[in-house]
Amino acid sequence: MSKKALAAVSDQYDLWIGGDERPAGSDDQLAVVNPATEEPLADVAMGTADDADAAVENARDAFESWHRRPPKKRTQILTDIAAAIREKNNQLARIETLENGKPLGEAEDQVERCARHFEYYAGIADKIQGESIPLSEEYVDYTVREPLGVTAHIVPWNVPIYLFARSVAPALAAGNAAVVKPAEETPLGALELARLASEAGLPDGLLNVVPGYGNEAGAAITGHPDVNSITFTGSGPTGTAVAKSAVENVTETHLELGGKSPNVVFPDADWEGALNGTMTAIFTNAGQVCSAGSRLLVHEDIHEEFVDDLVERAESLDVGSGLKDVDMGPLVSEAHLEKVLSYVDIGREEVGEPVTGGNALDRDGYFVEPTVFDDVPMDTRIAQEEIFGPVLTVTPFADEGEAIELANATDYGLVAGVYTENVGRAHRFAREVDAGQIYINEYFASGNETPFGGFKRSGIGRENGIQAIENYTQLKNVCLNIAPTE
Ligand code: NAD
Repeated sequence: MSKKALAAVSDQYDLWIGGDERPAGSDDQLAVVNPATEEPLADVAMGTADDADAAVENARDAFESWHRRPPKKRTQILTDIAAAIREKNNQLARIETLENGKPLGEAEDQVERCARHFEYYAGIADKIQGESIPLSEEYVDYTVREPLGVTAHIVPWNVPIYLFARSVAPALAAGNAAVVKPAEETPLGALELARLASEAGLPDGLLNVVPGYGNEAGAAITGHPDVNSITFTGSGPTGTAVAKSAVENVTETHLELGGKSPNVVFPDADWEGALNGTMTAIFTNAGQVCSAGSRLLVHEDIHEEFVDDLVERAESLDVGSGLKDVDMGPLVSEAHLEKVLSYVDIGREEVGEPVTGGNALDRDGYFVEPTVFDDVPMDTRIAQEEIFGPVLTVTPFADEGEAIELANATDYGLVAGVYTENVGRAHRFAREVDAGQIYINEYFASGNETPFGGFKRSGIGRENGIQAIENYTQLKNVCLNIAPTE
């Protein structure tokens, strides 16, 4: 049986609107390509502005009854969706690996996180409560959290199944109806999830998926006057354009953007722990992670030895098709491979040859070697710009003050990691570094329950955790005069 058949990937996909498949308003189809082989996987209909209208209209109709249902009904349906996703973990993970390239084990973890997300917000759906506010004996005053209506979700290609759930699950839990625009490279997981949710009992029209080009279907959705909130996950320039168009309609917008996160190793760190964390930080998903630890800052006393060990490990990574038992898969597309390689060339000009890697692999697929540049000054482009590939910069520092200064020395502020056995230093670092999440002694040490989002140019707002419910509700205050009338 072929790999494609094992994942039950069809040859052609339409849009998903109103609880069913629907052809797009144009004949335009885009091939989704397997980045490990460069072979086409499936053709996908490209939605138009009219299709975006239809999706928003269906969502609006479905919202009217959904938000009036008892919250415990939403809890039950989202719990059933979580179970359906878990049951299909193997198939969904294969789809994620086939269209994105990541190793199957990573994809399975992401599908489990997706299921867990529906489960987590199922548990919150019936606990979205207001407060009573003591004004005086003459008043009863209380607040209620109401859903917004139609929420738009623009999803990138790097972790498509989990990032779909990250904003859709809390939006549905809070009583909204969703319209999703997946990335051009990876629409298959989103379409499968919408079908699964429908089979699990989600009423028609609550979850619509419109694959399409960003500047066409994406812009039509985010600029739609009947959309009440936008969650955009993607690059800074696109996010800024989306936010500008949203302002025209005064649409609430949450931006989850890029990063250039520091990972800092002090001499007292646990050596193995710091090495493992550094490898995970930059080579997970071939570095195509918004929160990747792409800048290693290492104390000068251990710099040379640490880099030697790191290079040895980077060179031992098994790079290949994600369907095999490998450490790192390909990059998502040919265009992205070219972008990453062009940054490697910029690095060569700025600081010289990388200490390891720096080349595409000479085979089919968009593979690039794990790459490390050493002694990288912070004012170079490779230290400042998001490369979004398996390319690490290393910069030595002399003391804690310099480490913090270097950690903060980019426009981004998504996450930061630190390795030290000194508790006071760890907490000083957490206090002084401008980032939405701080990891101490383990990179990516957080979960669905912990708020995630960026300081500075890494975004606006927080996903995950109880806090995300605020993104998908609006607060109403009700004040009643109860003073006697005579
Ligand atoms: P991108 O900005 O190119 O595209 C993201 C999505 O926006 C895609 O679905 C695309 O089709 C759509 N889009 C493009 N133009 C649009 C427009 N004019 N209107 C509406 N939608 C439009 O980003 P990408 O290359 O797909 O993703 C990589 C970026 O995403 C990186 O910068 C990464 O750091 C970031 N990211 C951030 C997070 C986070 O949580 N902060 C998570 C994952 C990825």
